[in-house]
Amino acid sequence: MLRAREAIRALPSYHPPLAGRAGLRLDFNESTVGCSPRVLERLRHLSTEDLARYPERHDVEEKLAEFLGVGADELLLTNGVDEAIHLLCQTFLGADDEALIVAPTYSMYRIYMMAAGAQVREIPSRPHFRFPINELCNSITDRTKLIAIANPNNPTGTLATPEQLLRLASSACSAAVLVDEAYFEFCGQTALSLRKECPNLFVTRTFSKAYGLAGLRAGVLIGARDEMVSVRLACSPYNVNAVALACLPMAIEDREYIERYVGEVLQSRDRLEVFLREQGIQFWPSQANFVLFRAGATKADAAAFTECMRKRGILVRDRSSDSGCEGCVRITLGTSEQTDRLLDGLQQTLPVVSAEQGAARR
Ligand code: PMP
Repeated sequence: MLRAREAIRALPSYHPPLAGRAGLRLDFNESTVGCSPRVLERLRHLSTEDLARYPERHDVEEKLAEFLGVGADELLLTNGVDEAIHLLCQTFLGADDEALIVAPTYSMYRIYMMAAGAQVREIPSRPHFRFPINELCNSITDRTKLIAIANPNNPTGTLATPEQLLRLASSACSAAVLVDEAYFEFCGQTALSLRKECPNLFVTRTFSKAYGLAGLRAGVLIGARDEMVSVRLACSPYNVNAVALACLPMAIEDREYIERYVGEVLQSRDRLEVFLREQGIQFWPSQANFVLFRAGATKADAAAFTECMRKRGILVRDRSSDSGCEGCVRITLGTSEQTDRLLDGLQQTLPVVSAEQGAARR
């Protein structure tokens, strides 16, 4: 009888709530305005030849390397950051190795680490969600082969400092240390320059967030030249499709478009944080394009809040199941008009939900 590997059978099933997402999409940290018009223009001019040929990543990798100030041999284009995480697990993690993550964090680290057969240790960051640098360093053993850090972290929006990342990477010389900068554009801090001191450090970036191209599936993995030779061995030569390859140069060329959108998101983030503070609602100051806050005390409160917002046409993400996040909801920020709509929706939803919470507890 056919039987999936033990490590696969042990995986929790992960179903992000993607079905029927009608309304203002503030639930998946995507761009709320979509990509630069230059990308759409390029798409309109794709030829049959572009689609008939197997995709060649190399030229686009050279452009991206120049854009990021790294060598082309230090960079790999991937099918979203998810593929980069998967490749790092395939390359560096084996059965019975250990992998470290912070809890809560982006769910796919754990899934790919477990799929590789590794023991995953989660280092809690609750209740403040500060980067647990001492606990991480104390948890490194000879068997630790991969450490994945989202910076800023998802869903908390909190940030580790370069000094902390340097300490972590230099304390774990026989582990690959991934600093996932999926939300880089909204915070501006990068670990790219730390690679000089730490050849075990990898950085990822994505086109799914600020660039508005989550549907295209494109990300970048950057690491030391020698290590990238190994990662490429584990990678399909055709992992990034021709449509994505045609669009990416246009996406990075239109700097003004990204800067304008990021500027607007940062203003929206300030507005939401001011609103939450005024309402006396607990939230965690964010360095990304989203804010996590406590919508109530229980899972049921967060679910009721999310549902009430959905009925008003605003999709937000219930994060109650994440470690230390009971009653918490995460909201993605967009343009100022979208934030007007969001704040209006919150003004109307919060009293209804807190009245229901009060009644349920009486
Ligand atoms: N890393 C983090 C921290 C994320 O939050 C996400 C998406 N939610 C990803 C990676 C996935 O990025 P991509 O779409 O490039 O696979």
